[in-house]
Amino acid sequence: MNLITKAKIFGEVKCHMYTIEWQKRGFHHVHILIWLKDSLHVHRVDDIISAEIPNPQDKDLFYIVTKQMVHGPCGSINPRSPCMKDGICTKRYPRHFFGFNVFSRKE
Ligand SMILES: [Zn+2]
Repeated sequence: MNLITKAKIFGEVKCHMYTIEWQKRGFHHVHILIWLKDSLHVHRVDDIISAEIPNPQDKDLFYIVTKQMVHGPCGSINPRSPCMKDGICTKRYPRHFFGFNVFSRKE
């Protein structure tokens, strides 16, 4: 949070909130909500938010992430996936991109 609020890596922060949660087997993650002073252009989002699959040479970490933290594959690619029921993913994947654009909102 210091990088976001004090080092201002995304710009000046008006306010923020966050919560740390623990999933099954102790995996922790954080939900962060920040309001920036200046709007963030939608095209910059991919520059600052990303996720990576660990290097497969790190077998334990690769297994944990790909088996415990990633959904699928399911659907027509893998109809036997545990999430599938009657040919449809019960978790509603794959999902479409939401067109709601909060990043270019003017105040
Ligand atoms: Zn699924």
